[in-house]
Amino acid sequence: MPRSEAPLPRGYRPASALTAEVHAIYRSLTGEDCLADVYLSPRMGARTAGLYRCVAGSHQIVLSRRYLELCTREQIEDLVRHELAHYHLACTGHPRAGHGPLFRQLMRTWQFDRFPDREILRRIAAQQPRLRHLYLCPAGHEHWLSRHPKRRATSCALCSPTYDHRHRLRYSGISRKE
Ligand SMILES: [Zn+2]
Ligand SMILES: [Zn+2]
Repeated sequence: MPRSEAPLPRGYRPASALTAEVHAIYRSLTGEDCLADVYLSPRMGARTAGLYRCVAGSHQIVLSRRYLELCTREQIEDLVRHELAHYHLACTGHPRAGHGPLFRQLMRTWQFDRFPDREILRRIAAQQPRLRHLYLCPAGHEHWLSRHPKRRATSCALCSPTYDHRHRLRYSGISRKE
């Protein structure tokens, strides 16, 4: 299976030592080989500590680098088992099991019962500088948006209360952290 072809979000780093560790944990739990690769994300951690996803047949477990730095060894084990449970369910025909009954059953058999430490997530969120992007309307009003509008064009609320293409906002090319 061509595992290297799946696109990775910016900033994700393959973590080979961690991958080996995660594979060993999976083998100890199921007796089977784990086909997921583990990546570290420098940005994840404010809302969630990890995720499992399958992209173009490639199994990926992404863990928050900051969370791993701040949590205990025991919490790492929990986090890994949590994401492995998602992986396991996806591989055994339950990709949409979520945190439902099948997942909770695995929590009991694999003995992990704590979700990410809310306090650590809160600390990470507080440390993350937020990126703001400067958008300008034709009249020159400044709008610092937290994300680039994706689907719909956005117009200046100061010039027009409802969307009006004549007051459409355009990205100035300037972004800053605050
Ligand atoms: Zn989950
Ligand atoms: Zn305006």
